[in-house]
Amino acid sequence: MLHTLDPELRRALAERVRFCHEMGIYDFYRRESRVSDPTITAEVDDLPSTSQQQREDEQSEEMAARKSAVVAKAEDTLRVLTTHAEQSVTDPIAALKLIREDLGDCTRCKLHKQGRKQIVFGVGNPRADLMFVGEGPGADEDMQGEPFVGRAGQLLNNMIKAMGIRREDVYIANVVKCRPPGNRTPERDECETCSPFLMRQIAVVKPKVVVALGAVASKSLLAMNASMSELRGRFYDFSPAGARSSDPNWKGTKLAVTYHPAYLLRDPRQKGEAWKDLQMVMKFLGLEPPKKSD
Ligand code: SF4
Repeated sequence: MLHTLDPELRRALAERVRFCHEMGIYDFYRRESRVSDPTITAEVDDLPSTSQQQREDEQSEEMAARKSAVVAKAEDTLRVLTTHAEQSVTDPIAALKLIREDLGDCTRCKLHKQGRKQIVFGVGNPRADLMFVGEGPGADEDMQGEPFVGRAGQLLNNMIKAMGIRREDVYIANVVKCRPPGNRTPERDECETCSPFLMRQIAVVKPKVVVALGAVASKSLLAMNASMSELRGRFYDFSPAGARSSDPNWKGTKLAVTYHPAYLLRDPRQKGEAWKDLQMVMKFLGLEPPKKSD
């Protein structure tokens, strides 16, 4: 419950939290500190005369109690201000809808004014065990409002089918939700501005495995600057930065890296390597490739 807190302090906290959100910071930690409250000292000076030791004990107890109260109020306020709406619902469909509403007609980065037709949020099973993350929408995706629907999307569909599952079984999203002009690579500031929404999507879907498609998705999610050959071939423990799941038992997911389907269209020789990555994921999820007759 939110206690009454000095309106000026509440406004200042709200401003600070908003600023942190703009910077992509969502987690806050309290550092233990000695809070001095001049009103406490003034009140203690008015106490009737008693032994020095007794006065010191009483002062110490009262200060501890008031410090706790002040910290509790500030923590309540911070909790309210930093909790995303989707954390209050357990239904992932409703939670994703709340994130989409929060995104709104987004103008947070410059991609909003560089020719996007619409925001491409994400698609698929909101309770998927497997999630694919690409870098950003292309022309077809921008037109249709759905990720991975062009030629690269067709190849991704084939990759999913080869794993023995359907596109509807997985969840698919991108690091940036607006099409970069001319299909250029999204820039770092664009990825950093948009990715908190992706993190929140991951925290809602709670997949067992996230597959990062290509260098932009891999580097954004892992915050590592390494080559694809260095990043592929293993699982990473992954928790979506700054986003919390409504399920306190969910501790994160496994993340694997593979090539982006658009890259595989340009260099089909790498398809075998991508298949190795997917087989690693299949083994983890207990998936079997479809029988030849399927
Ligand atoms: S890319 Fe993301 S942050 Fe940038 S305008 Fe689009 S939705 Fe907003």
